[in-house]
Order: sequence, then structure tokens, then C-alpha cells
Amino acid sequence: MIRYSLVCDNAHGFEGWFSGSADFDRQMEAGLLTCPSCNSAAISKSLMAPSVSTAQKKEEKQAVAMDLAQKQVMAKIREAVAAIKANAEDVGEKFPEEARKIHYGEADARGIVGQASFAEVRDLLDEGIEVAPLPILPEDAN
Ligand SMILES: [Zn+2]
Repeated sequence: MIRYSLVCDNAHGFEGWFSGSADFDRQMEAGLLTCPSCNSAAISKSLMAPSVSTAQKKEEKQAVAMDLAQKQVMAKIREAVAAIKANAEDVGEKFPEEARKIHYGEADARGIVGQASFAEVRDLLDEGIEVAPLPILPEDAN
């Protein structure tokens, strides 16, 4: 019999007795191992490390995962913004004027991007002209 220190995905440590590592693997695969504290079946062998360091590692992993998720989201937003900009004319500060002209058929219907103040955007929306803010990306905000 061997004793394993086990840990669930909620960082609860507990112990289990097994006839060998194959026995552990078999029980694990069969879903027979669950955390006595939270019933989680996401159990892994702890390497006899103090529970503090296990918790720290978990936090580090979560931080890395969050960072990665954030980067993926940023990449998606960046792609979307690039696609919008590639298909739109940058009219700069003339944005409210151009948006109005397009809306009233005085200019060719096309996608435009540009700057508008909060008040200008509000006026456009009041007139039923659909405008949407482009997200400001970190590199752009300088
Ligand atoms: Zn647990």
C-alpha cells in the first residue's frame, strides 16, 4: 500500500491509500476519487509540498490563464478594429458631419471611422444615426 497526498482543483489537500500508482490511475479514470471537502473529481497527486505552496501555484496558474485569456480577447478586439478600419474611410474630426451626410443620403453610403465628442455622438444617436465606439486599445491611447 502506498499513501498519496492528493489535492483537488479547489486546493483541498487530503490523503488516499492505494495498492500502487496503477491503482491510483485506475480509480482516477473511473472517477472514484473525489475530494472529501467539496466532492470535486478533479484530483491530482500532490508532490508532498506544503499546502501553502500548492495554493500559491494555483494562484500563479490562474494569473497566467487570465493573462492569456485577456491577451486572446485583446487580439480579437484588435483584429475586429483592424477589419473595421480596413473597410472604412478615416474621416477624422469630420466624423459627425460625414455620418450625418451619409445618413441623409448627401454622401455615398460607406463605412467611416473618425473622432467625435460625447455630445456629438449623443446628437447623432438622437437623430437616429447609428454610431458605435471603437474600443481604444492600449497602444492607441497615447
Ligand atoms: Zn476539494
